[in-house]
Amino acid sequence: MEVRIIKGTKQIGGCITEIKSSKDTKIIIDYGDNLDDKEQIIIPGLTKKDNLKANYDGVIITHSHKDHIGCASLIKKEIPIFLNKEGMEIHNNLCYFNREYDKVLREKDNTIKFFDFEKSFFIKDIKITPFIADHSNYNSAMILIEADGKKILHTGDYRNHGKKGCLFNKVLNKIGEVDLLITEGTTIGSSNRVFKKETDLSKDFQELTKYDQIYVMCSSTNIDRIVNLYKSFSKTHLFIMDMCMNSTTSLLKKIPNSNTFSNVYTFVSPNQKKIEEPYGRYIKHTKKVIYELPFNEKFVVSIKQSMSDYLKDHKENIKNACLIYSMYDGYIKEDWKDPKLRDFKNYLVDELHMDYFPIHTSGHASLEAIKTLDKIVKPKKVIIIHTEKSEKAIAIEQEIFQNRLLDFQDGDIIDLK
Ligand SMILES: [Zn+2]
Ligand SMILES: [Zn+2]
Repeated sequence: MEVRIIKGTKQIGGCITEIKSSKDTKIIIDYGDNLDDKEQIIIPGLTKKDNLKANYDGVIITHSHKDHIGCASLIKKEIPIFLNKEGMEIHNNLCYFNREYDKVLREKDNTIKFFDFEKSFFIKDIKITPFIADHSNYNSAMILIEADGKKILHTGDYRNHGKKGCLFNKVLNKIGEVDLLITEGTTIGSSNRVFKKETDLSKDFQELTKYDQIYVMCSSTNIDRIVNLYKSFSKTHLFIMDMCMNSTTSLLKKIPNSNTFSNVYTFVSPNQKKIEEPYGRYIKHTKKVIYELPFNEKFVVSIKQSMSDYLKDHKENIKNACLIYSMYDGYIKEDWKDPKLRDFKNYLVDELHMDYFPIHTSGHASLEAIKTLDKIVKPKKVIIIHTEKSEKAIAIEQEIFQNRLLDFQDGDIIDLK
């Protein structure tokens, strides 16, 4: 097999991997957006953007974060896209909320094939087995690729300190030893901190039950976190979600949502209600929608920037309130490209006087997780993608993998003979 990292040896997000068997079967793993919003590269024979004959036999999407799935709708209809069903539904739902209709994956425009975890399938002579990965995204997959007597593990994004972390070693033992490991290295070199376990965050959350009003900034697709918040607060506070979060969780079984959980509500502010798409469309399918926050009761609510005017108008009702920021802290740092989220958070803290608590843990692999992975799958060669190449990162990578680490640039190819 030949492996080419088309993109990703020096960037976080937007990674694209190409794998080719000796019989010329060609697949791509992940085709998402670049995180810096630069346009993704067009690969000849892959997308509808050129009139060339389809040059690939399949595309595998590891999970539904936009940096992995964002450009999948561009893929030519002749080329099947393999992914997890719930992952696709979550992606499509988010596209409606972001009004990115061109990114929605539809049967009429693409050939979509759903995979199940640990059920192998073939793309011609290449055998593919997806395994469940622990990540801040529902049903993320690690992909085992086998052909020509060789085994490659592409990890996608992963960690072992989340709710599915207990499966990490078990899954890796099933995968066994591999010839080549393509692993994410998002956090390598960027920090020395020890990542908190997802379950330990509930202790931090529970200390805040003394507040009557708890406002939460959290990704609508971070299902582990939403469940954690629900378990921490739903006994003492009314549990209220914004419409985007509720429409995501409604897609999944047994995850808190206002349609099937008796103690969960969906909040739509009066000005959001006026927006036909997507609110009008979703309100029709949502139970227990409220248009005012119950300021006289104890509640926890997930908030979005689009509620800013509503909160401003109810300034005098916001009392004994705290703000939990439960997302990547980079989004609210001074150097982040888009100041909107930072401005919103600052407004809530400075003008609405909410007490501020950043409570979060990374969705990505700690050094300890990477070392555990290495110990179990014993790769003969290693490529690190989804990484920023700081000098410190390079030093750490070399320390872990030593002479098995390939010094790869975007576009480089390795032939696993
Ligand atoms: Zn990613
Ligand atoms: Zn991800």
